[in-house]
Amino acid sequence: MNEAVAKLKKLHAKRIFVHFPEGLKMRIQEISKQLEKEGFEVVLCMEATWGACDVREYEAGLLKCDAILHVAHEDYGVKTKMPVVYWEYFFDADPIPILEKDFDKIKNFKRIGLVTSLQFVKTLPAVKDFLEKKGKEVFLHKSLQHPGQMLGCRVAAGKRIEDKIDCFLCVSAGRFYGLGLVLQTDKPTYNLDLEKQQIYQIENLKMKVQKIIEWNKAELKEAKKIGLLVSWKRGQMFGDPFKVKKILEQQGKEAYILAMDELSKSKFEGMKLDFLINFACPRIGTDDLEKYGKPTLNWYHITSEK
Ligand code: SF4
Repeated sequence: MNEAVAKLKKLHAKRIFVHFPEGLKMRIQEISKQLEKEGFEVVLCMEATWGACDVREYEAGLLKCDAILHVAHEDYGVKTKMPVVYWEYFFDADPIPILEKDFDKIKNFKRIGLVTSLQFVKTLPAVKDFLEKKGKEVFLHKSLQHPGQMLGCRVAAGKRIEDKIDCFLCVSAGRFYGLGLVLQTDKPTYNLDLEKQQIYQIENLKMKVQKIIEWNKAELKEAKKIGLLVSWKRGQMFGDPFKVKKILEQQGKEAYILAMDELSKSKFEGMKLDFLINFACPRIGTDDLEKYGKPTLNWYHITSEK
């Protein structure tokens, strides 16, 4: 926190707008109090913030804040007029008891690629050390701030070492990061899940997602009324919905550009739509294919523009 506070003070910030992930809700009041003790006025953003792609500069401006503090996320390259300070918040976790308990599941692989999310990068040296003591060759690639670090939509830390390894071990809480990797690579992939306290294989999820994508591609041929989902989150604007709208209309379909902040099923209630094409966070078109009650695809499933 000291580093973030120093950066905010250097900016002469008085009132700060704080973005934080859902996983920090239990601690955010304590963090807020600490920031107040440092002399800041604090506004906590209670809208979901899934990543550094989401910077609510406009809302922060309405509340007369003069800086944004993004907790537990790293600079994603979103350009803003209001200064944004990123605080790399790391979660305490001990992966060793899980490795000791479940090592047999990965013992047959000689070369192991390690990946994780920002919150758990500090656990990787201990995991590497454990595996090396067991005679494994361990590979890490640095494509973001830390070796092995991935985002839900940026998995180069895994992709770049895929040719050198026999399996991936993804240290995380839940399947989100591992699934992102599995969808873009072809090696056996294991999650070291710090929440479930176990190691398990996850590449079987890939087949399920791919089947739904192929099914939905077939459904799109029959669809007549299509919603094109566009987000106004600064780092979640992908593809060209206006171009896709024209292409769909040339095919005799109706297409509507639907702009929103947070996507939810209730937003489409009362509308006559039989298909959704997502241009926001790319994980919507892989993880949430069945969530909105209509067949869904990402823009790149139909345009090949990533
Ligand atoms: S676009 Fe989606 S996956 Fe990428 S950082 Fe944002 S919320 Fe995460």
